[in-house]
Amino acid sequence: MNDYSKEAQKALASPRLQASLHTLQDRFGKGAMALWANMEDQEMRRRVKKSRLKNLEHLDILLAELARNVRARGGKVYFAETAQDAIDYTLKVARDNKVKRVVKGKSMISMEIGIDPALEEDGIEVVETDLGEYIIQLAGDKPSHIIAPCIHMDRKQIGQLFAEKLGMDYTDDPPTLTMAARKELREKLLSADMGLTGCNLACAETGHISLVSNEGNIRMATTMPPVHVALMGMERIVATLEEHRETVQLLTRGAALQKLSTYVSFTGGPSSADDPDGPKEFHLVIIDNGRAKILADPEFREVLACIRCGACLNICPVYGRIGGHAYNSSYCGPIGAVITPLLDGINKHADLCKGETLCGACKDICPVQIDLPRMLAALRQKLAYASDRWDTRQHNPAEAYGFTIWRLIITRKPLYRSLLKIGRLFQRVFIKKNNMISSMAGIASGWTDGRDLPPIAKKTFTELWEEKYRNRQAAAAPETEENQ
Ligand code: SF4
Repeated sequence: MNDYSKEAQKALASPRLQASLHTLQDRFGKGAMALWANMEDQEMRRRVKKSRLKNLEHLDILLAELARNVRARGGKVYFAETAQDAIDYTLKVARDNKVKRVVKGKSMISMEIGIDPALEEDGIEVVETDLGEYIIQLAGDKPSHIIAPCIHMDRKQIGQLFAEKLGMDYTDDPPTLTMAARKELREKLLSADMGLTGCNLACAETGHISLVSNEGNIRMATTMPPVHVALMGMERIVATLEEHRETVQLLTRGAALQKLSTYVSFTGGPSSADDPDGPKEFHLVIIDNGRAKILADPEFREVLACIRCGACLNICPVYGRIGGHAYNSSYCGPIGAVITPLLDGINKHADLCKGETLCGACKDICPVQIDLPRMLAALRQKLAYASDRWDTRQHNPAEAYGFTIWRLIITRKPLYRSLLKIGRLFQRVFIKKNNMISSMAGIASGWTDGRDLPPIAKKTFTELWEEKYRNRQAAAAPETEENQ
C-alpha cells in the first residue's frame, strides 16, 4: 500500500477526524455555496476570474511594475527562479542582519520551498505566529488544511500539547489556550530579528503586498522586527487597487464566509521619515519555482488564477473523508491535487491526480470557478499516455492497455452484449444473499475491500431503452387493416 492509501486509511479509521471534517464541510462548504447564491453582485465572481486570467497574460509587465513601485519606496525585490534561489537569498538577508530569531506568518509558499529547515540549520530559531500553525509547530506535525492547518486536532489534544510544551495546567478551554499562546508569541514577536511572511496578493499599481488575517499577528510580524522578508508566488498579483478590493472580498468569503477578514495589512517598503513605523529593511522575493512552466501551458494556466482560499477543500467528498495529510504536500484538497503534481512532478504525485472523483463540486464552490475537474482529467491523460512537455512517463501501462481493450469492446455491440451474458453467468458464484458481490478475487479485490459491488444488471440501460422505445412505437403505430 502506498503512502497516499495508508494515510487515507488512517484518516478513515479516525472517528474524531471524520467528525471534524464533517463539521468543517457542513459549516464552511454549505456556507460558501449559500453565500454565492445570495450574493448581491452576481457578476463579481466572473469579473474577478476575468481579471485573474487577464493578469496572467500580462504577468511580465505587472511584475515589472510591482518591482518598480516597491523599489521606489526603498524596498528590495528579488526574482527567484527556483526554491533554492529563494532560500539562498533569504538566508543571505538573515546572515547580513545577524538574525537569530524569525517570526513567520501566512506563508504556505515557505512550506512549498522548504525554507524552515534551511534557516534552522543556520542556527536560526523559527517561530510560527498564526495560532493554527503555532500549534502544528509545537506538535511537530504538518498542516492539514490551507486555512485551518490544525483541523485534524481537537481541543483536548491541544490542551494536552500546551500542558506538555508550555508547562501550563491542562485545560481544553479555548480562550485560556488562546491567551497562553498569545503570551508566548508576544515574547517571540517582541524579540524577533526578522519577520517572514507570504503574500495573499500584490498590487502592481501601488507596489504593496497585502495579507489577510484574523489574529493580528501579521501586523506585528511585518512591522516589529527590523527586517521583513515577504515570499510571493509570482502569480499572486493584481493590476489595480480596484481589482484588489474585489479579489480580497472573494478570498475572505471563500475562506471563512467573511465579507472581509478582521485585518487586511498592506506593506511595501521599509519605514521612512514620513512613515516611521515598520521594518528598516523590506525584501520582496517573487518566486517562480515551476509556475512559468504552468503559465506556458494553456491547458493548465488557469490554475494560476487560484487565490488559495481553501473553499474547494470544504466541499470535496475526497478531502472530506481523507483529510489533508494523505496529500503529503503543502497544498491539499482539489487544488493540491492539481497544483502539486504540476509543481513537483506528475508521476511523483500520480495518486493525487487519480484520487479525486471529478464530481465538479470544487469548480462550483471556487470563488473564481477554476475548472479543476478538467485539469485533473488532463493530468490523468498525461499519466495514461505520457507527455514529453511535462516529462511524464506512462504511469501504469497495464491500465492503458486495459482501457484500450475496453474501448474495443464497448464500441462493438454484439461483442459487448455477449461478454455481458458471460459475465452474468460467471458472477453468480460471487453474489451473496443480500444480492451484492462482497468479495472478488485477484486485482478486482480492491473494489470490494471497502464496499459491496452491485452485480451486472439483468438488462443494460440500452436494452431497457430499446424495449421502452419499441413499446412506445407499437402503441403509437396507426392501426392497419391487418390489426383492425
Ligand atoms: S481552486 Fe478555487 S476554491 Fe480552491 S483554493 Fe483556489 S481559489 Fe480557492
